[in-house]
Amino acid sequence: MDDDAMDESATDDPYRSALEAAHDRALSWLDSLAERPIRPELDVDGVLGRLDVRLGDQSTDPRAVVEELAAASEPGLMAMGSPRFYGFVIGGTYPAALAADWLVSAWDQNTGSRQPTPATAAVEEIAGAWLLDLLGLPRESGVGFVTGGTMANFSCLVTARDSVLRRAGADPARGLQHAPPIRFLAGDAVHTSMVLAGRLAGLGAPTTVGADSEGRIDVVGLERALARGDGPAIVALQAGDVHSGAFDDFAAAVGVAHGAGAWVHVDGAFGLWAAASPRLRHLVAGLADADSWATDAHKTLNVPYDCGVAIVRDEAAMAAALGAHAAYLPAVASISDPYDRTPELSRRARGVPVWAALRSVGRAGVVGLVEGLADAATGLATGFEGIAGLEVLNDVVFTQVCVAAPTDAETAALGEWLREEGTVWASSSTWRGRTVVRFAVSNRGTDAEAVRRTVDAVARGVAALGIDGRAGIARPPG
Ligand SMILES: *Cc1c(COP(=O)(O)O)cnc(C)c1O
Repeated sequence: MDDDAMDESATDDPYRSALEAAHDRALSWLDSLAERPIRPELDVDGVLGRLDVRLGDQSTDPRAVVEELAAASEPGLMAMGSPRFYGFVIGGTYPAALAADWLVSAWDQNTGSRQPTPATAAVEEIAGAWLLDLLGLPRESGVGFVTGGTMANFSCLVTARDSVLRRAGADPARGLQHAPPIRFLAGDAVHTSMVLAGRLAGLGAPTTVGADSEGRIDVVGLERALARGDGPAIVALQAGDVHSGAFDDFAAAVGVAHGAGAWVHVDGAFGLWAAASPRLRHLVAGLADADSWATDAHKTLNVPYDCGVAIVRDEAAMAAALGAHAAYLPAVASISDPYDRTPELSRRARGVPVWAALRSVGRAGVVGLVEGLADAATGLATGFEGIAGLEVLNDVVFTQVCVAAPTDAETAALGEWLREEGTVWASSSTWRGRTVVRFAVSNRGTDAEAVRRTVDAVARGVAALGIDGRAGIARPPG
């Protein structure tokens, strides 16, 4: 084919023109992240006002659809990929992971089974093995790529539920209505996601057994609670509290829980990644002795939404709980299929961007990523402590920083001021009975410069609001 013929087929090809439009808009969005205000300019009604909400009868050219979507949506997008976005716990995106995610869409493989989709099943198997290695978890574990930490917690909890029931002589297939009650225990600082997963799994919200001021489970309380009853039990521990970043004492808690015959699950949505760093690994000592672990790749690993990871030491138990069996579903010998490790039958190959991120940065890059996030959190805390009127409330051990002004009203005003000013976006929350502004460092781009600009913005807010004791905007001009 000569060049002219190629050009002609290019213009005729609706895939090419739509994808080229998406490519251009994606690059201009990514280019804008460094300097655009982080908050969205439009709210939902604003975006609705820019789109025709009636579905007309006529068709629209694919390229025009992409252009219309991008133009109407961009003002309503939050710059979540900015290195100065600290809301919730949200990672950025590595270039290789984003590009691989595009390929996943183009390939459009329904990655449930090894037989019809060998390539994506193979890439996910490698990604899973790399994760186990990096996180120091048992290499025989089953790894399932799910939508996020909540579904990872759910997948592990369902496996735990069926396993403890089977151990108690019950048949999980008959349902909870024919099973002995299961005790489900967690620390007081258990994440909402774990509570939701417990409800979805039919276990209800966990019974809480206490926690210390940083949110670490009270191991003595756990021991007492386990001793008070008998029968099947599941204990949910936590690696990385969303406010303090604190880690449960795994060595002690896993020992106590296993001593009582309980299954131990760890919610490590972002904290599990401490295991990848020789410097931070001490935070998760004893973690690998648990039975199951949930983490996110769309947080710390900086792959695009969505990707969570469910990990279970006993892969056969995972397949028994989550696997589907039907005559038309091909099974390959004794090796579990992707659909044996997730609740879905059909899904995108969301493990592929994980492979791409890891392949792109390598082992040292993952260590640098995790340590860089923790260093940035330390830098923020040091900077905030240097601002008169501010106090950092948590022990900054990992990636989370909670800061407060003298009064709750001032802290709330500071959070609003920051989000409105647009240099920085951090969530407001309540912790230990106080209003806080919460900084979760999860973006690979949050370097010393981003930290400096963040601390400067916070100092400007403190001054503008008069929190530092000098009258700020409250003072009449002149
Ligand atoms: C984010 C988070 C979750 C939930 O993960 P999703 O990916 O949002 O479903 C669970 N636990 C902790 C500690 C988290 O930070």
